[in-house]
Amino acid sequence: MDMEQLKNAIKIWGALGLIVVLGIVAAFISLSNDSSARFKQAAREMEEADDEIDISNETPYTSYRKRSESFSGGSSEYTPDPESAPGSTVELDIAPLLNVSSLSAGTSVPGPDAVFVFTGQGRAHGVGLCMDGVKYRALAGHSCTDIIHYYYTGVQISNVDDNQPIRVKGRDGQVRTLPLKEYLYHLAEEPETYPYEGLKVLALAARTYTLSCIARGKHQGFDVCSSGNCCQAFSETKDLSKYPNQIRSIDETAGQIITYDGAPIIAAYCGSCGGHTDNYEDVWGGQPVPYLKGKPDSYCSQAPNFTTTVEISVADLTSKLNASVGTLELIDLSDRTPGGRVRTARVVGSSGTKDIKGKDLAALLGFRSTRIDYTFR
Ligand SMILES: [Zn+2]
Ligand SMILES: [Zn+2]
Repeated sequence: MDMEQLKNAIKIWGALGLIVVLGIVAAFISLSNDSSARFKQAAREMEEADDEIDISNETPYTSYRKRSESFSGGSSEYTPDPESAPGSTVELDIAPLLNVSSLSAGTSVPGPDAVFVFTGQGRAHGVGLCMDGVKYRALAGHSCTDIIHYYYTGVQISNVDDNQPIRVKGRDGQVRTLPLKEYLYHLAEEPETYPYEGLKVLALAARTYTLSCIARGKHQGFDVCSSGNCCQAFSETKDLSKYPNQIRSIDETAGQIITYDGAPIIAAYCGSCGGHTDNYEDVWGGQPVPYLKGKPDSYCSQAPNFTTTVEISVADLTSKLNASVGTLELIDLSDRTPGGRVRTARVVGSSGTKDIKGKDLAALLGFRSTRIDYTFR
């Protein structure tokens, strides 16, 4: 890497901040069917955090941080709290994937007694790896590298020295120097029961993240800390004998990291893309990131909670929208990202219109994604 590239890389890392490996780890854990109360609580917190984050007013750095933290301990088993969700949640016999090209520009309200049936698909922002997609691709026999190349456009797998020294600040404040692979062995939140090729994807992401910390000089006097909220959760006392699959996934991918133009990538992820990932710039604004491009994804729909539906009467929705547009006539959802996420919803009434952000509509309906459409019953 020459000086200019290095400067650019540092600039990008400085602006975009953390790679969200902890979040990837947590998302992997969340996929392992842990339904403990702690995880459900975390899922609720994640839901609230997602609703509150206005990424359009934040630097991408903050967005990444908040999102990675909000995924800690997140659960894929989240279901909307019936007491707080508007309307009732029901299972509908609908196609598992929204066909983006046919998404409604607004179906007119058929009458005052009609009931909206909203459908939401996916969780979180939809940029980068789709963790549900990784799981089901791995189960379908896709290789680690195929999965990485699918979700990250135009990246390379590069090799580094897995024995290079890493200075780790422990929870006791001591800085210890470990070979890179020993550090990776001791990451504390990696799941053991996960499709093996998915574990390898995680190994590459964790190694990529570690090197990005070093390259951008994240800490002074050491390279990484032990905190999952700051770097990656690390435990000196982890009993490695209990994690043979993890150890194997690290050994089999020894030295491999994900790069673009020779630099470690920003390994963004989301819990579920809802059927289509999105371009970086369409979700977070700013300059396009060449390897964070929207891609169709037919694998995440196999997850049990892929689709959420919410029924709400015209009267109740009118009240919740509080749009002052007279009699509600339709909601135009045609302003979407290429990946099908609603940017702006236009509420059309008998005496005017009002635009609301897609994420505000999602929050109002209790959805965790802005990949939303509706019909009536
Ligand atoms: Zn740290
Ligand atoms: Zn997906």
